[in-house]
Amino acid sequence: MSTMSEWARFGRPDAFEVGLRWVDDPAVPQRRPAGHGWSMGQLELSVAGVSLTASARANQRQAHVGWYLSPVLGWLAEHWGALLHEERFAWDERSALPAAVTCSRILDWVPEDAGGARRYEVAQAWYRRHAIRSAALGGLFPDLYVRRMADDIELSWSGDSPEFAPSGLVFESGAGRARLSVADFARPLWQLLQWAAENPPAAPASFRADIEAFQAKVRSLRTLREPSSTREYVADGMFDLARSAFAEIGRLDLFDHEQSGEVPCIEEFSPAVAMFGGVSPTLVGEDVQRLRDALVEAHGGGDGERLAELVEVRRETPVGVPHQDGERLAAELLEDLGTGGRGDWVDVDAICADLGIAVGTLGLNTDSIRGVAFAGDGFSPSIVVNATHYFNTNDAGRRFTVAHELCHVLFDRTRARRLAHASGAWAAPAIERRANAFAAYLLMPPALVLRGLAGANQIDREQVEVLAGTLQVNRSPLIEHLWNLGQIDEVSRAKLRAGLSLD
Ligand SMILES: [Zn+2]
Repeated sequence: MSTMSEWARFGRPDAFEVGLRWVDDPAVPQRRPAGHGWSMGQLELSVAGVSLTASARANQRQAHVGWYLSPVLGWLAEHWGALLHEERFAWDERSALPAAVTCSRILDWVPEDAGGARRYEVAQAWYRRHAIRSAALGGLFPDLYVRRMADDIELSWSGDSPEFAPSGLVFESGAGRARLSVADFARPLWQLLQWAAENPPAAPASFRADIEAFQAKVRSLRTLREPSSTREYVADGMFDLARSAFAEIGRLDLFDHEQSGEVPCIEEFSPAVAMFGGVSPTLVGEDVQRLRDALVEAHGGGDGERLAELVEVRRETPVGVPHQDGERLAAELLEDLGTGGRGDWVDVDAICADLGIAVGTLGLNTDSIRGVAFAGDGFSPSIVVNATHYFNTNDAGRRFTVAHELCHVLFDRTRARRLAHASGAWAAPAIERRANAFAAYLLMPPALVLRGLAGANQIDREQVEVLAGTLQVNRSPLIEHLWNLGQIDEVSRAKLRAGLSLD
């Protein structure tokens, strides 16, 4: 008897599509894996038009992977909350690279010191929540990682074959990365799980209890509700502190979400969750209240006409190479505003005033937050500088922070067109790097830098001093910027840096 079900497909191949069918298992029941021996099937995954399951071996191409599928299906149900809502890596990660690169880099070698071993352990646990291969149970599944990124889902894959794969097996996809809306990813997966639970294959009676356990797991997802999903986004310990701060003043409307539709996931985080998702979990209560008050104060109002125009033309600006993106965005803005190279320096406070963005100061206890920005749907655009942060202790540094936050206001709105962002070491590295590159370019446009250097062929410490004064920036970002612009070589950069440290 040979049984093979029809393909059940969900989603769209240009965004995310998943297909599954059950196939007959030639192995006798006693030789099949315990718990999963009922679920032999084939799986197809496509992301942004690329098939992640298509492989070739000895000129034989197949579009699917085939194996026992209940480990992967059960894994999807079990880690649903983390898959769709957890953005942060479990280790200190400064690079802006996709999870498929950063996570496997850590897991590639086991360090011998205690700190390294601990980091390896938390990375392992993160891998088990986010990498489909962690549930492969011997199947040849693609090396795909799923991770939340603000209001998007990041999918990234290495294209590598599993270590134990038969020689010559090559996945066609190569390495890649895509960002999808939460709905485009979560809905097809949800439909897949429902379909698999409602239409299990015919299987020997010895597996009946296993099938029922899988069905129960999928059913239990239907009762998954906020706040359990939100807890995946906001660091442990911070969630309750932040939520009760909003409850205290009767503003849970800024913290809690309404879940829309049947799929149990949060498509758009509330402004409070978006902001507290990017802060250190060690903030004290006073700082939580101050941040809450800043958010409440910015709530109401909206973008002015000029700002709305600038934001509108830059919709859907994806994060590419952060440094290049930041510079390009700053160059475009200077051109739009017509301020490039007219005076001797760029007055970022005046730019903010022209765009109707309020700039204020806040004294937090923590120096882990550099500034905060609010904008978009239901918010008056505003930038708040944390006076306690080391970079903000002089006016040149404060201006750099304002320019950094201006980048967020213009380019880092969520799909809900909203921004509530705290900048610092705990925020997503990709958008922080982009904002820094933006700020450097905005305050030090090449035209002004070159004018300030006036054709000098040797840039020394004194010249850096004078140019920093003219541009009203600090010397250390100026030195980095001169290097980025190709005005100094590595040796000069090292000498100039060393000069700074002697001051
Ligand atoms: Zn930032």
